[in-house]
Amino acid sequence: MNQDRDVAIVGGSIAGCAAAIAVRRNGYRPTVFERGAAELTERGMGVVLPVPLWESLTARGYLRPDTPKRLVHRRIWLVPERGDARGRIAWSHSSEAALTGWWFLWHALRDRLTESEYRGDSAVYGMERDGKHTVLRFGDGGIRPATRIIAADGHRSVFRTVRHEYADYVAWRGSYGTGRIADLDLGLLDGAYVTTCFPFGHGVFALVPGVEGTRLDWVVYGPRAPGMSTAQSGFGGLPGSAAGFLHQLAGRHLPPLWATLVERTGEAELSVHPVADLPPAEDTGDVLLAGDAAALVRPHAASGAGKALRDALAIEDLAAAYPDWPELAARYRWVRNPEAARLVALGRRLGRRQVEHPPAWDRMTAPDYAAWMSSVLDGTAHYLYPWIPAAGQ
Ligand SMILES: Cc1cc2nc3c(=O)[nH]c(=O)nc-3n(C[C@H](O)[C@H](O)[C@H](O)COP(=O)(O)OP(=O)(O)OC[C@H]3O[C@@H](n4cnc5c(N)ncnc54)[C@H](O)[C@@H]3O)c2cc1C
Repeated sequence: MNQDRDVAIVGGSIAGCAAAIAVRRNGYRPTVFERGAAELTERGMGVVLPVPLWESLTARGYLRPDTPKRLVHRRIWLVPERGDARGRIAWSHSSEAALTGWWFLWHALRDRLTESEYRGDSAVYGMERDGKHTVLRFGDGGIRPATRIIAADGHRSVFRTVRHEYADYVAWRGSYGTGRIADLDLGLLDGAYVTTCFPFGHGVFALVPGVEGTRLDWVVYGPRAPGMSTAQSGFGGLPGSAAGFLHQLAGRHLPPLWATLVERTGEAELSVHPVADLPPAEDTGDVLLAGDAAALVRPHAASGAGKALRDALAIEDLAAAYPDWPELAARYRWVRNPEAARLVALGRRLGRRQVEHPPAWDRMTAPDYAAWMSSVLDGTAHYLYPWIPAAGQ
C-alpha cells in the first residue's frame, strides 16, 4: 500500500480523535492506535469548554449541532455561614462556558472516524528510528512503519522523556444522576456553577448533561487521605478510610448543602486524581504532540480538553498551509507551545493561590475577590474571567 499519506496517531481519546479528523481533512490517511478497547466506556465526567470554541467546533463539523451541552453564565463563590445550609455568597461574576460530558465529546469525535481508522487494543510501546525509516513498536511485539506520527497518548506519553510534576494536593471527584438529590434545593446551579471555599482548598459543583439525564458533577481540591501517595488515582472502590476522610473534610469545611452532595456520592462514583502539570516539550522532531501529551495543565484552568481541541484545529489549519510534514511539525510547535506554556503557568498559579496558599476567603469583600483574581491571572486572558483585562489591553 502507498504509505505516502499515512499518519499514525497514538492515543484515541479527545486529542487523538480530533487530530485524526484534522489530518484527514487535508488528504492524509489517519490510523488511531488506542491501548484501550475500541469503545471507551463512559467516564461520567464533566468537561468545560469556552462557548466560542464549542461554536467553532460545531461550525467546522467536529461536533454535531445536537451534541449535548449545558450553558452556564455565572460563577458563584460561597463561604460557610452559621445557620445557612447553602452558605453565604461572597462573590459572583459573569462566566460563560459550555459544560458537557467527557463521553459525549469523545463520542462526537469518535463517530466521525471509520472502523478502520480507529484501532482499539493497540498499545504502542515506543518508536524506533533506523536511518530514514521509523517504526512504531506495539505491546504485542508487532511493529509498523510510520512516516508521520501524532502523539496523543496523554500526560504519560511514551514520546516524552520529561515527566509531569505532582502538586501536593489531589482532586476528589464525584458524578451521579440528579434523581438522588431531588429533595435538595439546587436553585443556585441554574445557569451557574458554584465554588465553595475553605482554608486549604475549594470545591466546584455544576450540573452537566449525562447519558441518562442531568448529572451533578463535583470536584474538591484539597489534601489526600492519610497513607495515600501523591500519584494515587482511582475510580470507584476507594478504600473506605479514603471516603471517610473525604466526608469528614466536606462535613467540616463545606456548607451543609454541598457536604451532603459529596456524602451522597456512591462508592463506585467517587474518584481521586493526582493534580500534576507538564510544560511543553521543546523539540520533538517531526512527531507532533497533541493534548495532554503536548502539555498538561492543572485542572483549575478548565483547559485540558479545550487545549486538545485547539491543537487539532491548529493541525488542520497548518496542514493546509504546510504540506511538508517536518515543516508542519515545526510551525505547529511554534504556534502551540507558547499557548501551552501560558496555560501551564496559569494552572499552577490558580492551584497555588486557590489550594496551596488561598486567601482568607471569608474575610474578603466582592471587590477584594475581583482584585485577588486579577492578580492570580496576572495579565493572562481566560474565558472564565472575560471581564479581567489581559496584558496589553
Ligand atoms: C479532575 C480533572 C478535571 C478536568 N476538568 C477539565 C475541564 O473542565 N475542562 C477541560 O477542558 N479539561 C478538563 N480536564 C482535562 C481533560 O480531561 C484532558 O486534558 C483531556 O481529556 C485531554 O485529552 P487527551 O486526549 O490529550 O488525553 P487523555 O484523555 O489522557 O487520552 C490519552 C489516550 O491515550 C491512550 N494511551 C495512552 N498511552 C497509550 C499508548 N502507549 N498506546 C496507545 N494508546 C495510549 C489512553 O488510553 C487514552 O485514551 C480535567 C482533568 C482532570 C483530571
